[in-house]
Amino acid sequence: MQVLETITQVRAARSAFPTLGLVPTMGFLHEGHLSLVRRAKAECGAVAVSIFVNPTQFGPTEDLARYPRDLARDLALLEGAGGDLVFTPSAAEIYPKGFASRIEVEGVTAPLEGAARPGHFAGVATVVAKLFNIVQPTRAYFGQKDAQQAVVISRMAADLDMPVQVVVADTVREADGLALSSRNVYLGPAERAAAPTLFRALSRARALFEGGERDAETLRASVREVIAHEPRFEVDYVSVASPDTLEELGRVGEAALVSLAARLGRTRLIDNVLVGRPRA
Ligand code: AMP
Repeated sequence: MQVLETITQVRAARSAFPTLGLVPTMGFLHEGHLSLVRRAKAECGAVAVSIFVNPTQFGPTEDLARYPRDLARDLALLEGAGGDLVFTPSAAEIYPKGFASRIEVEGVTAPLEGAARPGHFAGVATVVAKLFNIVQPTRAYFGQKDAQQAVVISRMAADLDMPVQVVVADTVREADGLALSSRNVYLGPAERAAAPTLFRALSRARALFEGGERDAETLRASVREVIAHEPRFEVDYVSVASPDTLEELGRVGEAALVSLAARLGRTRLIDNVLVGRPRA
């Protein structure tokens, strides 16, 4: 496994691999990331992983400074998962003096996380476009955990004719349903005990959908009702939207993305389930 810090090194190393998967991450890796790495390795024969806590996707009051980092541990985990290339650039390598470009994906970036975190998706789209250009992967792997991000990246790659196949993989969860996230380390014991309520709430909506409920507002209300039993939560949004356009639905047709964001103390958690379509 080669650990590379510069774009020049990545370009030189890239040529050894006829097909290559890419898994972009912000590090502090967990089984959610590693499942993407193993899948990319299995499907592409070789995998590159980027570890970069991208400053442009954090708002001024967000957790950039305290975002968890442990490069030595990440590298050991990637070695075990079959990583071939690991790209760990500095912020100056990605955003050198004079950097002035930005990718804005319209429409699908407006609601949900885009509304709650202005500028977030421009930061994400720009850094992912750069990673695609630097690594030139055959396929790039993203988690359904960040459902809107996956929609935004897929839209960008299609709109801009990027020669990469975007793959979205299932959310990996703890045994109690909590979606794995690097940010889960922020949770104190009582918060950690309360956190699985989010997936229980989403699962309730899924059960209602599977029982025939198609009124989106009834599904939203059911999610809110389950979360309300846990007073530690401050709900940011509960959404039942088209999985493709992310527009809020009145009635659910074939499928819907049921998603939410909620604060638990100082930690903001997001989660979602797709109903009516494989992949949760
Ligand atoms: P992050 O390091 O949080 O930026 O995540 C890097 C990639 O891993 C993104 O594509 C995420 O959607 C994905 N990811 C994060 N958590 C999970 C999870 N629990 N299950 C599946 N994929 C995940």
